[in-house]
Amino acid sequence: MPTDAPSSPAPGSFPSHDLSGAVLTVDVGAVRTNYRRLCEKAGGNPVGAAVKADAYGTGLAQVAPALAAEGCTHFFVAQPNEGINLRAALPNAQIHVLNGALPGTEDIFTKHRLKPVLNSLGDIEMWRAHAARTGTAVPCDIHLDTGMSRLGLPTKETDILAADPALLTGLDVGFVLSHLACADVPDHPLNAGQLAAYRAAREKITVGDDSLAASYGLYLGAEYRLGLIRPGGALYGLNPIIGMPGNGPNPMAQVVRLQAKILQVRDIDSPQTVGYGASHRAEKPARIATLPIGYADGYLRSLSNSAHVAIGGVLVPVVGRVSMDLITIDVSTLPENACRPGTVVDVIGPHLTADEVAAAGGTIGYELLTSLGRRYPRVYTDQTPPGPSADAP
Ligand SMILES: *Cc1c(COP(=O)(O)O)cnc(C)c1O
Repeated sequence: MPTDAPSSPAPGSFPSHDLSGAVLTVDVGAVRTNYRRLCEKAGGNPVGAAVKADAYGTGLAQVAPALAAEGCTHFFVAQPNEGINLRAALPNAQIHVLNGALPGTEDIFTKHRLKPVLNSLGDIEMWRAHAARTGTAVPCDIHLDTGMSRLGLPTKETDILAADPALLTGLDVGFVLSHLACADVPDHPLNAGQLAAYRAAREKITVGDDSLAASYGLYLGAEYRLGLIRPGGALYGLNPIIGMPGNGPNPMAQVVRLQAKILQVRDIDSPQTVGYGASHRAEKPARIATLPIGYADGYLRSLSNSAHVAIGGVLVPVVGRVSMDLITIDVSTLPENACRPGTVVDVIGPHLTADEVAAAGGTIGYELLTSLGRRYPRVYTDQTPPGPSADAP
């Protein structure tokens, strides 16, 4: 694991005809760097990529080919539509659909060569019928629930499957996976419990390859690194060791940078209030700057009066409520010439990671990234040299 400080994303750049006053820069090279770091951490285990929800809001069409160029062959999406989009970008990838297949969609999976993750005996029966109908072995994965109670075969169904291997007739099972519920809390007893349940199930159900750990699970310890690793968040710069005792800096490179230009700066007196609901009241005369970004851009309303932004590396507070299209920040501590209309402000970036901004709003980086807006332009950069496996099939 690299011990250096997390690298900053490439400097953002506003399009030459900037109409929105905000820009999202996605450093695709940082995603590739993160994939390499995760492969290193995984030792010899293969590493896939969770690219559901438009690659966690960063852009599937740009990110997935970059991961494929690094040698990633297994991609996990949630829904078949995401798989169809991904198939258009990556003709040769293995595409796994975590939510599985709804009855009636079997032929769509076959047409686009998508693998459903079968989540129940009912799913398995449906896929067995599909195999019988098409007269071919149909590719799929199987998800065993070991403590998440969300998707996957419950223990009872796992036991039924173990007792009757004929239930898998006609199925070409790739991975038998399970998902950890508390991997971000390393000493949570459910981690060891799920690992034990998974191992016990795999004694009985021996088809396919293992897959258990995602981003956090990869950092839980060697015993959790079984078969294919399926990270998502860490690829996009979220910290996979956030809850680890004595954790060092985030080992992942930062991927997203959201910047906005100041629209207006105003001096206010005390006691004057700022924004909807008058929820911020100036204790003394203050200088307030307004930015063209709001909850319609994924800047969550829960960040009202709690988040910070950075100007020239200096953090200043968001004051007042987040509006649909605007936020207000208190720039009283900065020299007047450091914040004028047009001054560029980092909303998410090197000084304020998605994890940190999300925490200020009472949520997680995952939600912040997948909420990123569609209204401001996106700039994709890639300054990282190609990896050693860049020409892998
Ligand atoms: C989303 C998801 C992943 C990826 O999880 P991260 O925490 O983003 O690494 C892996 N497996 C399953 C089943 C998932 O739903």
